[in-house]
Amino acid sequence: MKSVTAVINIAALKANIETIKGFTPQSKIIAVVKANAYGHGLITVAQALTDQVDAFAVARLPEAMELRAAGITKPVVLLEGFLNDEDIPTISAQGFFTAIHDMEQIEAIERTAIAKPIHAWLKIDIGMHRLGASREQVQQMKQRLEQSSKIVQPIGLISHLSVADTHGMEDYNQEQIAYFFEVAKDFTGDLCLANSAGIISWPQARTAYVRPGIIMYGISPYPDKTGPDLGLQPVMTLKSSIIAIRKVKKGDRVGYGAAWTAPYDTILGIVAAGYGDGYPRTMPNGAPVLINGRYAPTAGHVCMDMLFVDLGPESKDKIGDEAILWGQGLPVEKIPYELVCRIMPRVNMEVQA
Ligand SMILES: *Cc1c(COP(=O)(O)O)cnc(C)c1O
Repeated sequence: MKSVTAVINIAALKANIETIKGFTPQSKIIAVVKANAYGHGLITVAQALTDQVDAFAVARLPEAMELRAAGITKPVVLLEGFLNDEDIPTISAQGFFTAIHDMEQIEAIERTAIAKPIHAWLKIDIGMHRLGASREQVQQMKQRLEQSSKIVQPIGLISHLSVADTHGMEDYNQEQIAYFFEVAKDFTGDLCLANSAGIISWPQARTAYVRPGIIMYGISPYPDKTGPDLGLQPVMTLKSSIIAIRKVKKGDRVGYGAAWTAPYDTILGIVAAGYGDGYPRTMPNGAPVLINGRYAPTAGHVCMDMLFVDLGPESKDKIGDEAILWGQGLPVEKIPYELVCRIMPRVNMEVQA
């Protein structure tokens, strides 16, 4: 019997990249593999995709170093830039591409001794108000980068859409795209705008480089659609087994805090998966678990190592039967999708060609 296992489906991952290329055939693909490839395994994902994509993107320098240590030679983009001056020589030596979102970072590069010029993408704020040069700062930062012998020329331009997936915000999104291209008129370097929702919903945002994240993993960025609705395949399936079956009577109070009371005589399955694996303790009663081809609802509080499922009074399920918590047949968007990033270290990772 298997305990909690995250099966990573490489064929699905590769098919999703082809689907993304279908949306934006002219673009080069920067595969976003930050946060351990959204929980799917940084090196597993990068090695599977290295011949199929043009570059990788991460949030932090240690993630970029892990890619190099694993033999990945493709360009790696640091989406947040660098956090410390000490990182600048490494970025230069490794040939990483870095976002430059603040004048302070340009000054840091200028005062640091480096072996070769750095690939810089000027990051501008077009409406998110998180990172990036403001309207007032753009020209000054651009000139400063263009004049620097420590920067590879021509510099690129990068930005991020804040409402590409938000219904009712289409005008604000259009405004952001229009402003990006207004600034871009003066740039001869590479342009990079669209993330997942930009790629799917906004043809104008399909720049020379695009940065798909969540859709690579087969997950929809929209609240009202699943990955399969968009032609994507779930890459991670999290599953475990039923390790005990028990009958309860109407009125029996189940689990910690007696948080679920059986509304009828029924049969419970005890599944070996809990918050120690990354299935949240706060999950409400009734979350779906896929068992023998049907959705069965969870019952009571999720424990550290186990959870309860109401299999129903007619259940024929047996000890050892598989319980799928999300993935194939149960899109993780039906649970909350950020859970793929929260798998705990004790979960077995199984790579399936
Ligand atoms: C995480 C991230 C992405 C990928 O976003 P998705 O919505 O997952 O496609 C792209 N660009 C930046 C700057 C990011 O931080």
